[in-house]
Amino acid sequence: MTRYNLAELLEGSAARHPERTAIVLGDTRLSYAQVDAAAAQVAHLLVERGVRPGDKVALSMPNLPYFTIAYFGILKAGATVVPLNVLLKAREVTYHLEDSDARAYIAFEGSPELPIGDAARAAAAQVPGVELLIVDPAAELPWAGRPYSFETVATDEDDTAVILYTSGTTGRPKGAELRHRNMRDNVRIDEALFGASADRPDTYLCVLPLFHSFGQTVIQNGALAYGGTIVMLPRFEPTAALRLMAKERVTFFGGVPTMYWALLGALDDSVDVAALARELRIAVSGGSALPREVHRAFRERFGVTILEGYGLSETSPVASFAVLGEEPRVGSIGVPVPGVEMRLVEPDWSDAQGGPDTIGEIAVRGHNVMKGYFRRPEATDEVIRDGWFRTGDLARKDADGYYYIVDRAKDMIIRGGFNVYPREIEELLMEHPAVSLVAVVGVAHPSHGEEIKAVVVRRPGAAVTEDELVAWSKERLAAYKYPRVVEFADALPMTSTGKILKREIG
Ligand code: AMP
Repeated sequence: MTRYNLAELLEGSAARHPERTAIVLGDTRLSYAQVDAAAAQVAHLLVERGVRPGDKVALSMPNLPYFTIAYFGILKAGATVVPLNVLLKAREVTYHLEDSDARAYIAFEGSPELPIGDAARAAAAQVPGVELLIVDPAAELPWAGRPYSFETVATDEDDTAVILYTSGTTGRPKGAELRHRNMRDNVRIDEALFGASADRPDTYLCVLPLFHSFGQTVIQNGALAYGGTIVMLPRFEPTAALRLMAKERVTFFGGVPTMYWALLGALDDSVDVAALARELRIAVSGGSALPREVHRAFRERFGVTILEGYGLSETSPVASFAVLGEEPRVGSIGVPVPGVEMRLVEPDWSDAQGGPDTIGEIAVRGHNVMKGYFRRPEATDEVIRDGWFRTGDLARKDADGYYYIVDRAKDMIIRGGFNVYPREIEELLMEHPAVSLVAVVGVAHPSHGEEIKAVVVRRPGAAVTEDELVAWSKERLAAYKYPRVVEFADALPMTSTGKILKREIG
């Protein structure tokens, strides 16, 4: 038994440099001491309301300082944080509260456009025994008047710190149980991955949702562990993001590919790219495949090479990463991070056999792998065996050990018996001058099983036709791969974490 509580990330930095700025939101600047003191107040409140060590506390909070304050307050109380997507409707929240066995629920009041508080009240009314705490900045904060210091409840490093809900590869949302040490070790690697150092703390732009693992670990916890500053922009809007990066001298940007794509599209004379690029040190992409074209254009405009990483909620999340300082292998998700192993497996868990280009499912073992899906032993046994976690993502590995995601297993299209990986076709179509964004999906076909369809968002002013794009693809792709159907759309449906929702296209 080793004592460790993830709250020590914040407490350590607050002890070393209490006056340093931890969080910036508009004109508000909160020091490490202030964030830690507010988290202590939350812990007091929770204990007062009956929360005991090991209890689950759900949290519905947009990217505001309250997220970080509540998150570390819950941890200090020895409880488990269950962050929820702020877009969930009351029915969905009820499911998550019941499924996670939540004892308390901290929710933001929200706004008419994002009525988080209404959904929270309706959901909590359905689940007896849940203590609901609404955070309404227009009223008194629920933790107001509580003491500013709190003796953090000792936990074991193997206790569950966070439960992150994810659909995984199949089925309804399941709670990935992440231990205190899983979350800690996933930021310890930042030294190796980004050269993170408390002696030269970074300023992070925080546009990734904090309820999701990428923003939570890489931005929030990474920044706090190394005494950095988190600059919050609650709603991602590319022009506002660029201006804020210049104003706050952001050195670290983390985003999903669609955010990079949006930033590049928003560049105009009002943005001082040179000033911005001078400060920017690290740009990280993950969450979905970074198109080569976006990688190239970003490097050209900002002079910074995007480092691509790969991971899942179940792996805390980072599993593999580009190698800092090396010429990037564009299209690669890099190599396993320190302390983590990866291999390619067949559906029966045996090693994928064959030459360097053999495609297999990525399996991961190491400090980042979750304990399991909360209260779902069968679902856990399906994905974890002998410490190895299978990801549902298909990849190949080159002779130097770099991995390349081919596609998600469930997105693979089987046309006339041939495996077709949509990503390859999407990458090609992105090279067409008239194509701004594209998603390739399989649609049912009477004789081929599935047919390949591309849904394309055209660049403003571009007038390409379906026939032209089909013909263009046909010249460049094998007969079984090129899309026979092209549809045009004004936008593609996205998740709140910026992934294209293929289920809704088809
Ligand atoms: P989540 O649990 O929401 O973080 O989603 C994890 C999934 O995102 C993985 O299983 C992958 O399918 C996808 N993903 C993450 N990083 C990458 C990447 N660099 N390239 C392609 N897919 C990625």
